[in-house]
Amino acid sequence: MARLYDSRKRILVTGGAGFLGSHLIDKLLAQGHDILCADNLFTGTKRNLEHLHNHPRFEFLRHDVTFPLYVEVDEIYNLACPASPVHYQHDPVQTTKTSVHGAINMLGLAKRLKCRIFQASTSEVYGDPSVHPQREDYWGNVNPVGPRSCYDEGKRCAETLFFDYCRQFGLAIKVARIFNTYGPRMHPADGRVVSNFLIQALKGEPITVYGDGSQTRSFCYVDDLVDGIVKVMESPDGFTGPVNLGNPDEFTIRELADRVIAETKSRSKIETRPLPCDDPKQRQPDISLAKSALGWWPKVPLEEGLKETIGYFRALLAAETRAKGE
Ligand code: NAD
Ligand code: UDP
Repeated sequence: MARLYDSRKRILVTGGAGFLGSHLIDKLLAQGHDILCADNLFTGTKRNLEHLHNHPRFEFLRHDVTFPLYVEVDEIYNLACPASPVHYQHDPVQTTKTSVHGAINMLGLAKRLKCRIFQASTSEVYGDPSVHPQREDYWGNVNPVGPRSCYDEGKRCAETLFFDYCRQFGLAIKVARIFNTYGPRMHPADGRVVSNFLIQALKGEPITVYGDGSQTRSFCYVDDLVDGIVKVMESPDGFTGPVNLGNPDEFTIRELADRVIAETKSRSKIETRPLPCDDPKQRQPDISLAKSALGWWPKVPLEEGLKETIGYFRALLAAETRAKGE
């Protein structure tokens, strides 16, 4: 139901206590909107939102998106889903349920409300890609029965549902395929490469490179990514995506380890560990569509983004040390 006396938008962000969701909420609040965050705190933390305690336009709802949700909002950003391989493989059945049932529930809500809905999809829909860089018209190379499949296939099925709701019910959908993103509020124990390497470097522990480190990733700073997400949501009627959002600057994992050691001035040494099953060998977004359709491209180079993220993890580790001393 539309509000009678207020032109501000009421926006639902699922997964808003997580890394990306909490930054997205900050941006939407700064734009003056009312935010409802729905999150079951599986991988997200209240710490990511504690600066919003008592904020008059922010509300937190502990809710699992695999169950229906009845609220009145004007827009939905669906981000709820564990994103790091360690987290999404912890309970793979729940990961698929979150992607698929979560999409069905949020799409059902959007259908009743006749509102726009954004889906946080992923570069993992391309699997271990045989086309490089990856464009949106590439259908991917995904193992349907491996340990990463719960996430990759869950997100692919969610995309199918979004496009079927669009074709069948005329729903205004917006689908973005997000490539590896990093920045403050990543969970220090989520096992992703940037958080792992930074924590290891700051603690003076070995930097764990999986395989020979020749596999590549392209790392986008969170502020750039969140700008892109909002641009996708605000794109003209009829623009559905899927659209790649990511930074095309590509690095080998070995190069990332060297950069982290240099930026933190750490004495950590690089150690190799076995390469996880089905680990994609290369990944780089082709962002021509985002540039032409949205006027979006990332601005923050890796060195700059790493500096911000290092500052965040330093403060986090210092707070942990103080808490242990008390
Ligand atoms: P995150 O783990 O920090 O955040 C995910 C949030 O979803 C957490 O707060 C978690 O508690 C919540 N959640 C998980 N299952 C839920 C459920 N069943 N019900 C309600 N809440 C639930 O991860 P992130 O990096 O912030 O990723 C956010 C979204 O972006 C995810 O959908 C992810 O697939 C997508 N994405 C992220 C990246 C990246 O590099 N960060 C890349 C591609 C796609
Ligand atoms: N990786 C690594 N050391 C780590 C964590 C990850 O070498 O401590 C590698 C991992 O094998 C992959 C890349 O870094 O090739 C990115 O891993 P991440 O889990 O961050 O994201 P993915 O893109 O694989 O989902």
